[in-house]
Amino acid sequence: MKIAEKLHGFLWRDQRANNGNTYFIEGPPRILIDPGHRHLFGRVETELARLALKPAHMDIVVATHAHPDHLEALSQFREPTLTALGREEYDFIRGAARQAGWDWGGEGPEPDLLLQEGELKLGELRFRILVTPGHSPGSICLYWEDQKALFTGDVLFQQGLGRTDLPGGNGAMLKESIRRLAALEVDILLPGHGEVIMGKAAVQANFRMVEDYWFNYI
Ligand SMILES: [Zn+2]
Repeated sequence: MKIAEKLHGFLWRDQRANNGNTYFIEGPPRILIDPGHRHLFGRVETELARLALKPAHMDIVVATHAHPDHLEALSQFREPTLTALGREEYDFIRGAARQAGWDWGGEGPEPDLLLQEGELKLGELRFRILVTPGHSPGSICLYWEDQKALFTGDVLFQQGLGRTDLPGGNGAMLKESIRRLAALEVDILLPGHGEVIMGKAAVQANFRMVEDYWFNYI
C-alpha cells in the first residue's frame, strides 16, 4: 500500500505465519526496510513487481534488528545492493554465536554497512539513526525527517511495545528508548508489525497509551 509520497508499506497481515512488515522508499536511492523471513520473501517480490521493480533494483536494504522475521531475507540481496544492520546488534549476534560455538563463516549475516547513532545520508535522503535497545540489544529506529516518518522495528507498535524476554532484551532500556522516540516530531509511525499510525495526534496518543499502560508491565 502507498502510505505517503515515495513511501510504501508491505504490511504482513497473514495470522497463520509470523513475519515483519517491510517498507519501501522509492528514492533515489531505493531503500527497503526489514525484508522479513527468507521463506516468506515472495511477498516482497510480489509487492515490488506491482511497482514494476525487482529486489535487484534496490540500492540498500536495512534491517532494524537481527530477529529472523526482519533480517533473514537480507541474504536474498547481492551486490550492488547494499545491506545494513546496527553495529551493536551485529556485535551482539556475533558474540552470541561465538558463545554457542556456532561457526559464523558463510552462515551468519555479513552486512555491508554497520549503522551507528547519528545522521545517515543516502543520496538525497537524510535519516537519523537512533540506537534503541530493549527489545534487542542493538535495535535501530530510522527517522526520516523530511516526511516526519519513524520506522520503529519491534521497539514500538500500535498499542504495544516489543517483547523483552528474548536474548538481550531489557525492560528498563526499552522504556528509555521509547521515551527518546516520543520526543521526536512524528507524523507517520511505521512499526515492524501491525498497522501504521498516521497523523501527529494519533502518534502522540499512541506514545501516551504505551507509556501509561504498557510501561507498568515491563
Ligand atoms: Zn524482533
